Amino acid sequence: MYNFAAGPAVLPAEVIKQVQQELTSYQKSGMSILEISHRSSLFTDLQAAAENDLRRLMRIPTDYDVLFLQGGATLQFTMTALNLAKKSGKIAFVDTGHWSQRAIQEAKLLPKVVPEIIASGKENHFTAIPKVPKITADYDYVHLTVNNTIEGTMYHQLPAALNNQTIVADMSSIILGYDYQVTDFDLIYAGAQKNIGPAGLTVVILKHALLSGIPTLPAMLSYPKQVKKHSALNTPPVFAIYTAGLVFKWLLKQGGVSAMQQQNEIKAQLLYNEIANSSLYRSPVAVADRSLTNIPFVTGSDQLDAEFVADAQAAGLMNLKGHRLVGGMRASLYNAMPLAGVKRLVEFMQQFEMNHG
Ligand code: PMP
Repeated sequence: MYNFAAGPAVLPAEVIKQVQQELTSYQKSGMSILEISHRSSLFTDLQAAAENDLRRLMRIPTDYDVLFLQGGATLQFTMTALNLAKKSGKIAFVDTGHWSQRAIQEAKLLPKVVPEIIASGKENHFTAIPKVPKITADYDYVHLTVNNTIEGTMYHQLPAALNNQTIVADMSSIILGYDYQVTDFDLIYAGAQKNIGPAGLTVVILKHALLSGIPTLPAMLSYPKQVKKHSALNTPPVFAIYTAGLVFKWLLKQGGVSAMQQQNEIKAQLLYNEIANSSLYRSPVAVADRSLTNIPFVTGSDQLDAEFVADAQAAGLMNLKGHRLVGGMRASLYNAMPLAGVKRLVEFMQQFEMNHG
């Protein structure tokens, strides 16, 4: 079967197998990874290796810190604002749909933080990335949701209007799947459960210079304190970091992020071509802004959509139901989705169209 879920999502089969093989005794220690201390060198070594491998994969410069935190991307909605809205208090948001709106809502709850929407895709139901106007006001940073998991849009390029702005990016559903330049961003965050590893881990990559001038905050919410303690202020999510480390090694073996992007482009194109060539399926998303990793499509009939999802599941094509906010279908094609899975999906779509077209 193939798992098209948006997250938690498919992981590389080789990684799952390795986890299984060494689950009872990690590195011949006689102890499971589930049992070892986060203060032991067994763990601190694997965390350091995971960070190094992530740095290689994303070409993260030495003036950026890497954090392995908890609380999901959702806690980063709060944490970015708490730490970084520190001068004017104003944050510029580009509203590209559900997850950017969630970030805005969370920022609104904080005292002395003023979120402002500088561009919104609301008018066209978030089927395209809105144009970002020239920025004149004094914002502490601009927040972007780089890939919109529900709406199926992404930034293929950053808006020129954002040159010289401090940019905070939610990269949850495309990190390691598209070869963005880390240096184009000041802070990147991503929940792990899509393209990195199991749920329970959140990766944050931030420019070291951002750490100055941050007010004193509760330890778990403070970037400077987390950086100082190498993400181990308290017990870190050991198993999730271990598994993410295995995924990073798998990615390096595949040729890194540019190789994954190439594969992801091939996989996505296969599905988009099928949608374009069919008279049953339709993609609501503007061609220029289409996501490589989350691909929504509809038949135009809710009943037919439901039938599609049920028949697909019976054929071993799992979790193709679109998000409850938009309906229809959604295929998430993360790094660990093999080309064969997308080919199976396309065959199924053709068969379904023959039967129902
Ligand atoms: N941002 C985006 C773009 C997402 O897709 C998600 C989860 N689907 C979130 C944030 C929320 O992530 P978490 O569940 O890790 O808090």
